[in-house]
Amino acid sequence: MTTATVPSLNTEFEVFSKLETNDHEQIVFCNDNSTGLKAIIAVHNTVLGPGLGGTRMWHYGTEQEALHDVLRLSRGMTYKAAISGLNLGGAKAVIIGDSKVHKTEALMRKFGRFVENLNGKYITAEDVGTTTKDMEYVNMETNHVVGLPESRGGGGDPSPVTAYGVYMGIKASAKKAYGSDQLGGKKVAVQGIGKVGMHLVELLHQEGAEIYVSDINEENLKAASRNFGVHVVNGDDIYALPVDIFAPCALGAILNTENINALNCNIVAGAANNQLANEDQHGPMIREKGILYAPDFLINAGGLINVYSEHTGYNRDNAMRDTENIYNTTLEIFSLAEEKDIHTQHAATILAEKRVQDILKVRSTY
Ligand code: NAD
Repeated sequence: MTTATVPSLNTEFEVFSKLETNDHEQIVFCNDNSTGLKAIIAVHNTVLGPGLGGTRMWHYGTEQEALHDVLRLSRGMTYKAAISGLNLGGAKAVIIGDSKVHKTEALMRKFGRFVENLNGKYITAEDVGTTTKDMEYVNMETNHVVGLPESRGGGGDPSPVTAYGVYMGIKASAKKAYGSDQLGGKKVAVQGIGKVGMHLVELLHQEGAEIYVSDINEENLKAASRNFGVHVVNGDDIYALPVDIFAPCALGAILNTENINALNCNIVAGAANNQLANEDQHGPMIREKGILYAPDFLINAGGLINVYSEHTGYNRDNAMRDTENIYNTTLEIFSLAEEKDIHTQHAATILAEKRVQDILKVRSTY
C-alpha cells in the first residue's frame, strides 16, 4: 500500500521535526491554570512495553529547553530498558517550575490526572525535583506510578540498587582493562557522593579500593571521610587525578573536550545520566585516548530494574539479582565495540535498538 507523503509544515515551532528526529511516538503538553501546572510528557517508544520514566521538576529557562530535555531523556529511557532486558518502553515527564517554590499537593495530583488520561501508556516515578512523597500524591489520582515508599508496598529509594549496578559495571570494566575484576588497591575517584555515590563508595571501601571523592556538599564529604576514610579532592581537580577508575556520579555532560583531555585514568564508569556532552564527538574521543568507557544508561539501570520489579510485584532480592547481570552485559558491549571497531556507547545503542527492532518484528507477525 502506498501512502501519500504528508507535506512538510512551515512552522517556526518545529515540534514535529523534533519528534521525527528520534522517532518519538507522542508528546502531551499539560496545562492547568488553577494549580499552575505546566508539564510535558514524552512517550518515545512503547514497542517493548509501557513507557516508564521519572518526572523531573526543574526551573527551565525556556519552553524549548524543557522540550529538548524531555525528548532526550525519554529516548534514553527506551535504551536503558531495552538493554536491561526489561519489557518496558521509554518515556519521561518534565514539570516546569522550581520544586522548592511551585510544588504543591494539588499540582502533583493534577499531574497525576494527566498521567491517568494516558491509560497506562506512561508510568511515572520520581526524578530530580520530585520525591517518593510526591509520587504518593500522584498515586491518589492514578495507579500508573512506581517508586512509592516501602510502607506503601513500593521499593523505596532505588539508589542502593543503582549503586550496585554501577559497581557491577566498574568490576566488568576492570576485568576488561586489567584481566581481573578485583578492586582491592585500585584507585577510584568518585565525583558526587549523594544518594548513589555514597552507596558506591561503601561498596568500593568494602573491597579495599583507595577512594578519592569530590562534592560541593561539605556534609557529604565529612560523612564519607568519617565512615570510609576517603581522600577529599577539590572540585574540578578530580578530572586530572591519576587514578585507575573515574566514576562520575553527580552531573551529566561532564565528558566534554576539556575534561576528556584532562583525564588521567584507564576507565570511566559512573552513575550520572548522559555523561558524554556530545555522543558522536566525545564517544570516539574518549576511545582514542585509550580510556574504557562503560555506557552510562547500561550501568546506571539498577534503579529502573528496581522500579520495574515494583511494577511486577516488588522483591528487592530479585531486583539485586537482575541488576547483577549488568556485569555480563557490560562485557558483551565491550566485545561488540571491539568487533565493530566503534566506541562503547555506540555499541550499547546498537544492542538496545536491535532488541526493540527484533520485538517489533515479533509483534508484527502471526
Ligand atoms: P544526588 O542529588 O543525591 O547526588 C548528587 C551529588 O552530586 C550531591 O551530593 C551533589 O552535592 C553532588 N554534586 C553536584 N554538583 C557537583 C559538582 N560540580 N561536583 C561534585 N559533586 C557535585 O543524586 P543521585 O540520586 O545520587 O544521582 C546521581 C547521578 O546519578 C545523577 O546524575 C542521576 O541522574 C543519576 N542516576 C541516579 C539514579 C538513582 O537511582 N538515584 C538512577 C540512575 C541515574
